[in-house]
Amino acid sequence: MNIHEYQAKELLAKYGIGIPAGHAALTVEEAVAGAEKLPGPLYVVKAQIHAGGRGKGKFKELGADAKGGVRLAKSLDDVRKDAGEMLGNTLVTIQTGDAGKQVNRLYITDGVDIAAEYYLSMLVDRKTGRVAMIVSTEGGMDIEQVAHDTPERITTITIDPAQGFMPHHGRAVAFALKLTGDLNKQAAKLAQQLYTAFMDLDCAMLEINPLVETKDGKLLVLDTKMSFDSNALYRHPDVEALRDETEEDPMEVEASKYDLAYIKLDGDIGCMVNGAGLAMATMDIIKLNGMFPANFLDVGGGASKEKVTAAFKIILSDPAVKGILVNIFGGIMKCDIIAEGIVAAAKEVNLSVPLVVRLEGTNVQQGKDILANSGLPIVSADNLGDAAEKIVAQVKQAA
Ligand code: GDP
Ligand code: MG
Repeated sequence: MNIHEYQAKELLAKYGIGIPAGHAALTVEEAVAGAEKLPGPLYVVKAQIHAGGRGKGKFKELGADAKGGVRLAKSLDDVRKDAGEMLGNTLVTIQTGDAGKQVNRLYITDGVDIAAEYYLSMLVDRKTGRVAMIVSTEGGMDIEQVAHDTPERITTITIDPAQGFMPHHGRAVAFALKLTGDLNKQAAKLAQQLYTAFMDLDCAMLEINPLVETKDGKLLVLDTKMSFDSNALYRHPDVEALRDETEEDPMEVEASKYDLAYIKLDGDIGCMVNGAGLAMATMDIIKLNGMFPANFLDVGGGASKEKVTAAFKIILSDPAVKGILVNIFGGIMKCDIIAEGIVAAAKEVNLSVPLVVRLEGTNVQQGKDILANSGLPIVSADNLGDAAEKIVAQVKQAA
């Protein structure tokens, strides 16, 4: 789960980490009121969307030479004007895709006098199975570009989970940033605080770009992105409350309400499967037969009628779906119960595309009979290969 910049900064501030003062705003009036509480005379008006590259982004509704989604404002009037231009409009950045994202929230921050910009991020590194800190003197810009052109300017420091964060890790971060004197001490301390926050909050990723050195010698988090391990969210109701569903795929939000593991993909065949391994195999075999899956969907072990119906509705609400392949192993749940669920769901949602069902497991024959006698054009398949061949043939025939 991702959160907005202002939310991430407020969380980090609780760990003693330095951030510029700021206020979130949903309206132009709130933006001006937020700015009035800041010392001025320089303010920053920042679009809050779950995507980076806002500064260089463009608003769809504004001209090509209009400013982007991070703007320096030199007066309250400028804050008013910038807030008015941003709210409700669509910001397109390198991370949003062509559709862009509508800006519904702003963050008004105290303008910082920047002496230098650095990069610092943390993530769970799957290769080493450890938390890694990635540090570079080249902050503010595209880190992927830095990694490509000048990889020697990026340092990775991994932390042994058994040992935890040690003072030498902090010194390594400060050294990689080439900081001396008090700034060196600040960097080491910041690294420690970030590690504590990362572990405490069950983060998956925390990126600070840029981390800035101010003209008066302080290290501040100027921009940050934070994402959390969804499987650990139950431990953090306060973090879960920060979820902004308007930033997420509406179908994925709907799926999560029914505890369905759903990921939207680009293909034509909607898949409804129980068990992640079977779901992966189903996607593979669709590809093997020359088409692509429209989604990954694991309805879980105990696929109830409610879940099956919800899954059908989600699959069918995707206009790209040209056919559905149901592949369910009736182990915990018997095949006849599943078949009843499928028939009821297919009737309820007014099935408009070909449906192939492959059932296997307990009471499989009763299940197949229920499908055959349903009066619905459901095609039964005998095994995984047969199922994939049949759905591909059905979709091609319907086209
Ligand atoms: P992003 O474009 O989404 O990554 O948004 P950032 O918050 O990183 O802002 C983009 C750039 O705007 C930064 O790299 C800075 O160069 C500039 N910027 C942001 N805040 C300030 C500020 O308070 N003072 C100054 N001088 N520049 C800022
Ligand atoms: Mg940034």
